[in-house]
Amino acid sequence: MDWKEDVKEMVYQGRIKVPYTWTVGEVGSRFFIELRDNKKIWGDKCPRCGTVFVPPRKVCSKCYSNIGEWVEVGTKGTLLTFTVVRYKNDLQPRDAPFAYGIIKLDGADTGLLHLLGEVDLEQIKIGMQVEAVFEEDRKGEILDIKYFRPLKEA
Ligand SMILES: [Zn+2]
Repeated sequence: MDWKEDVKEMVYQGRIKVPYTWTVGEVGSRFFIELRDNKKIWGDKCPRCGTVFVPPRKVCSKCYSNIGEWVEVGTKGTLLTFTVVRYKNDLQPRDAPFAYGIIKLDGADTGLLHLLGEVDLEQIKIGMQVEAVFEEDRKGEILDIKYFRPLKEA
């Protein structure tokens, strides 16, 4: 008798973490250097359709034109949507519970995915005004923006 007839196939469910590096290109480099050195958020504007992208892109995703005009956008914006993460996962940048949001910065036409902080997770509302909080020790990466917090009413 073949031994395999008595063996039920087993499937192992695992996860792998793979460290990696890649170039962020000329557009990404300028974007991250401005975050790190000047605490400024830059996008770029399509010369044909006028869309302002944040983060900036080399080629317009709407009309495929090359983009070359840099536009400084605000560090404040509007929360377009959000989700609250309530489960622990080693791949997440924060311990649960925490929230992700998509923020349309003032002067931008697209949304930037980032973390929400200094906020009651049960009080987050679509349309709320938020502002970027920068890390003190910045490294030239997206988490140089620590998170976006609700804008205090003046
Ligand atoms: Zn375009």
